[in-house]
Amino acid sequence: MREIDKGRPVLVTGGSGYLASWIVKMLLDDSLHVHATVRNLENTIAMAHLERFAETSRGKLDLYPADLLAPGSFDAPMQDCELVIHTASPFFLTGIKNAEEELIRPAKEGTTNVLEAAQKNSSVKRIVLTSSVYAVYGDNTDLALTENDRFTENEWNLTSNARHQPYAYAKTLAEKEAWIVTQTQDRWDLVVINPGWVLGPSLSPRTDSTSIREMIALGRGDYKSGVPKLWMGVVDVRDVAAAHIAAGFTPEASGRHILVSEERTLLEIAAILRKHFGDRYPFPRREVPKFLFWLVAPLYGHTRRFVRRNVGIPIKFDNAYSTSDLKITYTPVEETIKAHFQQIIDDGLLG
Ligand code: NAP
Repeated sequence: MREIDKGRPVLVTGGSGYLASWIVKMLLDDSLHVHATVRNLENTIAMAHLERFAETSRGKLDLYPADLLAPGSFDAPMQDCELVIHTASPFFLTGIKNAEEELIRPAKEGTTNVLEAAQKNSSVKRIVLTSSVYAVYGDNTDLALTENDRFTENEWNLTSNARHQPYAYAKTLAEKEAWIVTQTQDRWDLVVINPGWVLGPSLSPRTDSTSIREMIALGRGDYKSGVPKLWMGVVDVRDVAAAHIAAGFTPEASGRHILVSEERTLLEIAAILRKHFGDRYPFPRREVPKFLFWLVAPLYGHTRRFVRRNVGIPIKFDNAYSTSDLKITYTPVEETIKAHFQQIIDDGLLG
């Protein structure tokens, strides 16, 4: 049981990212003092929204530069914090040239760096880590390995590696590292959030999160000729941010938490978009047959092994523990997708 003093600053790593921006905003709106790390303090465009939230809320914001790969980066921003929310980690699924350098090392060493800072900093009582459902499973075919045909927090991803699903592998190694280090001490505890595919409105016009790029791609016609039949566990970015905060401030919260609202295919997501935004945008209308996608997959940054093990194979998640332990109420996926695309239009991101 860890009671967190709301008078102390809360550290949010990767504070200007898509998800973290919502966490920072919610903390500031609750009049808290936030220490947020960003990679580059000179990048004023990436941080302008955070500074605006601080000005218009009763909370206080201090920004610190920190890189996942720079040892000691998180020592200064963690000073006086009882609660650390570690979201920073590279997030991309395709276009990877060197998985070890681009994904695995930053995810794993970054987590080690944050935990080492906590070892040195006697104020820390709880660390909330943003992991992923990809630390639970690697491919949709892994569903066959589960007991009740749904993924639960008891499962671990056993099928990814540096060549196959490297992002999933990186998230798995980083979460495992966090649990191992946590067991070496008893001053702080670890609570882990394992979100599915995070969608929903972004607070900044940045487009570099994979979640935002994919939604733009759907609206810009990149999948006009069809989408692969791929199921995803979708969750609203605002619910994920609220879950991190609940994980931080609920003394009895513990363990891992799958965060998924509903499972949907890409075509179902496109149908929701068409229902609300009509035919003004070239949303996909059909699914590409699996064998055809298998043939062209490398052109779209996917391996044929990925196609074999994921396309056309449904998945199912058990989100019961998140609703009981963190009291999360899930936003319906339709509302999430509608709000996300509206923000993309409002911010003029379709080019
Ligand atoms: P994002 O906007 O791309 O955020 C990634 C964050 O990580 C950014 O703040 C980025 O900093 C930071 N980062 C990356 N490399 C870094 C480095 N070397 N040093 C310091 N910071 C670094 O994407 P997101 O969706 O918000 O992702 C946030 C977290 O959620 C990640 O841990 C991701 O794995 C996890 N997650 C996301 C989803 C999803 O569907 N979006 C699903 C499950 C889990 P800059 O702002 O400086 O670029």
